[in-house]
Amino acid sequence: MRSTLYLKFILIYIAFGFLSIFTVATLGSTLLATNLETKIGGELYKEANLMGKEYLPGFFTNTLSLNDTQVQLNGLTAYLHADVWITDRNGKLLLSSHSNPSTSSPAQITDFNPAEAGNEQYLIGNYHNYFSEEMITVIAPVTQGFYTKGYILIHKSYSDLTETKDSILNVIYITLLVIYILSFSILLGLHFFIYRPLRKITEAAKQYASGNLDHEIHINTDDEVGYLSASLNYMSNQLKDMNSYQKKFIANVSHDFRSPLTSIKGYVNAIADGTIPVEMYDKYLNIILFETERLTDLTQDLLTLNEFDTKELLLDKSSFDIHEIIRTTAISFEGRCTAKKISIELLFASKTIFVYADKRKIQQVLYNLLDNAVKFSNADSSIYVETTEHGGKVFVSVKDAGIGIPKKSINQIWERFYKTDLSRGKDKKGTGLGLAIVKEIINAHGESINVISTEGVGTEFIFSLSKK
Ligand code: ATP
Ligand code: MG
Repeated sequence: MRSTLYLKFILIYIAFGFLSIFTVATLGSTLLATNLETKIGGELYKEANLMGKEYLPGFFTNTLSLNDTQVQLNGLTAYLHADVWITDRNGKLLLSSHSNPSTSSPAQITDFNPAEAGNEQYLIGNYHNYFSEEMITVIAPVTQGFYTKGYILIHKSYSDLTETKDSILNVIYITLLVIYILSFSILLGLHFFIYRPLRKITEAAKQYASGNLDHEIHINTDDEVGYLSASLNYMSNQLKDMNSYQKKFIANVSHDFRSPLTSIKGYVNAIADGTIPVEMYDKYLNIILFETERLTDLTQDLLTLNEFDTKELLLDKSSFDIHEIIRTTAISFEGRCTAKKISIELLFASKTIFVYADKRKIQQVLYNLLDNAVKFSNADSSIYVETTEHGGKVFVSVKDAGIGIPKKSINQIWERFYKTDLSRGKDKKGTGLGLAIVKEIINAHGESINVISTEGVGTEFIFSLSKK
């Protein structure tokens, strides 16, 4: 990761530099040459035509002396830095002027063809081998009236054009170099804004994978990278929470399994080795039965909760009379209520109220709430189950006059395995899973449950359901 990404950036940077130079040297140079050719060729052609129309006819009609014409030509040669030839209609040289004194001109142009350039304004080459280097040549007629008297040929060295081209290219190369150096800042930007944070994130991912969830990524930028690292930090915190939750959960489960198993094992041992006399078997077998039931209940609760954890709970919703369910659930507590001299009062506004929910699961909610109410009620008290309707909802309240829930615990009672200090002494059977299950079921229905409680006075749970 380290070398590759870095190397890629640098290679791209170098390749970018080479390609830029290559492009200017090939495409840029060719375009520039064509452009200059057209421009210079066009200018020469214009000049030649001007001469051919304005000045040189005088030479052919003898109104302009040979000397004067020569002076004109010399001036033109100096101005254009080019050779100028004047010929008659057949290419016989009449007059010439050279920018370079060592060059000469032929007396007669062989194979003279004034239309040699065709559609173009100029020719490129060493013009019938009269020049040792490449020239740009333009040919224009010298006309008087409608007659062509002769021709003017201007030859300009192509190396002049190349010189101009090279000096322009040099300027481009220098600009390019400056741009190239400046574009190094992009590489720096990539380094600071992407590469370095990315390395931190990779390092963090490695740490998380190896189990170190305490590792924190220190990137506080307000961009995608910052957002990614914040998400990863959040993820590691969640994983950490889950880890500790799992540890706590397993510790609780093991603890709740171990105590009944220890007592069962103890009593069975005592029965087997004869410590417990036969006439006492009944009492101890009942204790063993009670403990076995505890284990069965616990297993059932864990399975129920697992169902909520592993999949989106599939609710088997139907329309049913909530009053009927409350009644049947309440009846199942009759035995315990009589023993504790507790009465369950049902306060229903109407005879029936139909709700739309998962019947079996709502029955479990009622069972768990009534179980708590009976368990934590004082003897000789009443439990009230009341239903009210409001805005398409049915509210079910289970209210007891029991030990109540201390203020500091009120938010924790929904946690798995949580039991208040008050209930710990009183109720050894509970595992603290009942309300966790209740909460999951009500949440799965998209409904809500609330608790109002005063320590030493009583507790009321109210949950809502959708009315049919
Ligand atoms: P389980 O329901 O698994 O047998 P539990 O009754 O102890 O065990 P929950 O029903 O989840 O567990 O309740 C959690 C805790 O909330 C109880 O241990 C108790 O401390 C407190 N609590 C719940 N209902 C009441 C109530 N009606 N009155 C007083 N305290 C309550
Ligand atoms: Mg309970």
